[in-house]
Amino acid sequence: MGLEIERAEGCKIYTTDGREYVDLISGIAVSSLGHRHPAVIKAIKEQLDRHLHVMVYGEFIQKPQSEFAELLTSNLPEKLDRVYFVNSGTEANEGALKLAKKFTGRTKFVAFRDGYHGDTHGSLSVTGRDVYRDPYLPLLPNVEFLDFNDPSGLDAIDNQTAAVIMEPIQGEGGIIPANPDWLKEIRRRCDDTGALLIFDEIQSGFFRTGKLFAFEHYGVVPDILSLAKAMGGGMPIGAFVSSSEIFEVFKKDPPLNHVTTFGGHPVSCAAAHANLQTLLAGDFEAKAARIAEIACHMLRGKGITEVRGRGAMLGLQLRDSELTKNVVEHCFQKGIILGWTLHSDTLVRIAPPLIIEEELLEECFRVIMEAVEKFA
Ligand code: PMP
Repeated sequence: MGLEIERAEGCKIYTTDGREYVDLISGIAVSSLGHRHPAVIKAIKEQLDRHLHVMVYGEFIQKPQSEFAELLTSNLPEKLDRVYFVNSGTEANEGALKLAKKFTGRTKFVAFRDGYHGDTHGSLSVTGRDVYRDPYLPLLPNVEFLDFNDPSGLDAIDNQTAAVIMEPIQGEGGIIPANPDWLKEIRRRCDDTGALLIFDEIQSGFFRTGKLFAFEHYGVVPDILSLAKAMGGGMPIGAFVSSSEIFEVFKKDPPLNHVTTFGGHPVSCAAAHANLQTLLAGDFEAKAARIAEIACHMLRGKGITEVRGRGAMLGLQLRDSELTKNVVEHCFQKGIILGWTLHSDTLVRIAPPLIIEEELLEECFRVIMEAVEKFA
């Protein structure tokens, strides 16, 4: 986009040449509390004055890590009681895949077409778009891709399968929520075959969909949960969460199964802790629902095929890619940052900070509609 950033605050981004933009995609589902939330900034500053990196992750006891892990797991189902911190989303999935292989002693993975799990080799191996994979083949050998929301083919989940990895709501694939019965069937199939179920909630987590995690909408609990993006309140951090029983296999043979120097950086953990405390204290379930309600009410008309998603993880499906390009460009000229998703060029991503005021949101939606009416 060619923007040179001066500063960012709340829902706004300011450039060095004096322009201001509304960030309607939260830096791609990161800044859920807006940019530089005061509680997050305070926690970062306090941690800066205590210590930065002191040792490779896991060797020393560091309060910012243990306190944040405690808060996170106390808000998760009982069996998700152990957290391993890393630096990013893709690294969380790398850890999740390794953990599933080690625990089950199996090597096969089941993943979904148009799913996105990151760009390192393991995560790319379970990402369901050939255009991103082909230049890097061969990847992990034993991955089977199924169609998302298609009940046929679930017998691919068998007793050779280490894990099924999936997003409960596909993000880059075009904001596609899983069908609840289908998701329950996958859980059942995993239970029957001993395969683990990995939910990648890197994009859907931390109230983006109105619940702390999207799986809560479905009543389906994964065996491993991968997290990143909004977790750090703007700081880089990721995690994979599972049960103590499953994590047991990471303790031996070799004794260090997943070393990461900077994983769970104390400043990132302090930020993440303040971020989660603030999210839990707020009324973000209602706020996300209201964002969806306003979107469904205002974004309708010729050229718009569908508004879909959940809470504040929304996609505006437009008639064709030309219209989509024009709408995104028009909004950009008017100071609104929108975006595509990686796997779809006819869908406008809408993921505003959850703190956005209704007036500002409505103003942005009026500009989107102005563009749709102009170009449709
Ligand atoms: N999984 C999902 C569902 C994502 O949306 C993303 C990022 N778009 C990733 C994994 C990768 O995260 P990161 O960019 O932090 O590696």
